[in-house]
Amino acid sequence: MPSKIGEKLAKIVTCKVAYDRQALDLYSVDASSYIVRPSAIAFPENEKDVMKIVRFALRNKTSVTPRGAGTGLVGGSLGTGIILDMRHFDKIKVGRRFVQAGSGVSKGILDDTLRRHNRFLGPNPSIGPFCTIGGMIGTNASGSHSLKYGSTADNLIQVKMVTSKGSIVTLPKKNNTTKKILAIVKPQMQRQFPRVSKNSCGYRIDKIRSGNDLHKIMAGSEGTLGIITSAMLKTFDLPKQSILTIISYKSLKGAVIDVPKILKLGPSAVEIIDHNIIKHITAKTPNSTKCLLFVEFDDNISKKKAKVKDVSSGKIIFSTTRYDQIMQWWTFRNSALSYSLKSISRQETVSSLIEDATVPVHRLPLLLDLVEYLTSRYPMRVITYGHVGNGNLHIRPILKKKDAHLIKKIALEFFSGVISIGGTITGEHGDGLARSEFVKLQYGDEVYSIFKKIKQFFDPTNTFNPGKIISN
Ligand SMILES: Cc1cc2nc3c(=O)[nH]c(=O)nc-3n(C[C@H](O)[C@H](O)[C@H](O)COP(=O)(O)OP(=O)(O)OC[C@H]3O[C@@H](n4cnc5c(N)ncnc54)[C@H](O)[C@@H]3O)c2cc1C
Repeated sequence: MPSKIGEKLAKIVTCKVAYDRQALDLYSVDASSYIVRPSAIAFPENEKDVMKIVRFALRNKTSVTPRGAGTGLVGGSLGTGIILDMRHFDKIKVGRRFVQAGSGVSKGILDDTLRRHNRFLGPNPSIGPFCTIGGMIGTNASGSHSLKYGSTADNLIQVKMVTSKGSIVTLPKKNNTTKKILAIVKPQMQRQFPRVSKNSCGYRIDKIRSGNDLHKIMAGSEGTLGIITSAMLKTFDLPKQSILTIISYKSLKGAVIDVPKILKLGPSAVEIIDHNIIKHITAKTPNSTKCLLFVEFDDNISKKKAKVKDVSSGKIIFSTTRYDQIMQWWTFRNSALSYSLKSISRQETVSSLIEDATVPVHRLPLLLDLVEYLTSRYPMRVITYGHVGNGNLHIRPILKKKDAHLIKKIALEFFSGVISIGGTITGEHGDGLARSEFVKLQYGDEVYSIFKKIKQFFDPTNTFNPGKIISN
């Protein structure tokens, strides 16, 4: 049956609106395991279309959920109302040290464009070219090079967006509204945020120190505060040369204990994959290998190469400055999620609830102790990989399908443990449908009530992506 909302919307906008069964099926899913059927999908071509659609949603009491490429892992781009596919917001303007990009610009096209200017964007999610700028801002995405170049929040200079009233605003902006938001965002609240180098849980009010930072509230806001149409982001000079060193360890603990020492050398990336992933890669590793560290430097490479050997207790199995070889190894690392899915039997299931914890790097051994404790208590095994240099491990619990009901209990214990060791329950993938109900557990009542005020301020009618971040 055609959607009434879709039919009505199609009459008032000139852009494409889809509400046939196939389209609704397609947009019911993203890269998570959730399924939520929308009422209609709109493909706005300009800001006026977005403004019209938002005003339509207000009048018709339906919701609006912006969507980039749908590669999010927590159901952030799924909703029951109107899905806004932002693909037509695809303009790129390259500046000397920044880039202005439409929210629908795909990361791959942006990378190619910037490369021609000898520049690159710092945050590089392992999904590679397939995500969009809007989705990266929406989740405060990061990647292997965020260790040196920061998350999306750290690289955001300006954001243009459509507000819940259906008007356009560019942040940061010095006006009365800014003063009101600064009054809600109490600076002393920053103490209640985990001291980690990346965090995608809740609203990042800790990044707002003055009115000049106001746009950073959009990083990690998951489409709940406004529809981003374009953004200005920092760019960096492409490194002249890089060196990638692969180190084999007999245990995960041994590897994470080395990480703080390696960080002192100033690497551009330190990543980890465990034996579940290693068994799928084509490179040869010693039989005793339980995990591999990927350590990359993109400056002073000859000096740093020698020093890695001094500080590491593992066995260096490969080191290269050859671009094609470096890319090959990064492909192994970036395929970790699909390799982990290959490591699961038909009787097993993998959770999307626990998969993105981030702790202060020197506390990584405590995070592994926590996992060991949980695997001894519950019938589960784990697959581990991730951005270990940032303390961000994608620990994926694998349970037999018959034990899947235990996951909520395990998650509660895991999240409580992560928080007690000073970490965040999500370093880069966000809250979405998976973790929004745990945002209060992360920050406590006081900070959560500030988050509610932020939501109320930006979106008093709860039109934008309801149920994400603020769940009650
Ligand atoms: C194999 C794999 C590897 C991954 N590796 C990483 C990684 O290394 N690091 C990482 O951070 N993430 C990673 N991800 C997760 C995901 O790729 C990133 O979060 C990515 O930035 C999402 O972009 P997207 O365009 O697909 O966004 P979507 O999934 O479409 O949306 C994500 C969120 O952003 C919001 N959003 C989208 N567009 C807008 C807009 N215009 N205005 C406001 N809000 C908007 C959506 O509502 C949603 O809440 C990975 C995913 C996969 C499948």
